[in-house]
Amino acid sequence: MSIETLGEAYRLSWRVRARCLRGTIEAPKRLIRCDFVAELDMQTLVWAKGLRFPLGRLGSRLMCPRYGSRDVNVIFEPPPTAARVAAR
Ligand SMILES: [Zn+2]
Repeated sequence: MSIETLGEAYRLSWRVRARCLRGTIEAPKRLIRCDFVAELDMQTLVWAKGLRFPLGRLGSRLMCPRYGSRDVNVIFEPPPTAARVAAR
């Protein structure tokens, strides 16, 4: 089963985290690495973007609050119970 929209992820109680990639690609001497990780609120995302918003486009809409970087990776995680079932 593949999840493609916010609505599907929301219905399945997936969690979403964002990780800032600032400094991991460009020269480390000039850039401070950020690596800021935050859990995003799925409920808020659904209200803001709508149920049909594609998960793949979420990263390009986010901005890290620490240095204002738009180079953000988004990680979707199934709820802990589903993960346990899948691991069997
Ligand atoms: Zn950052």
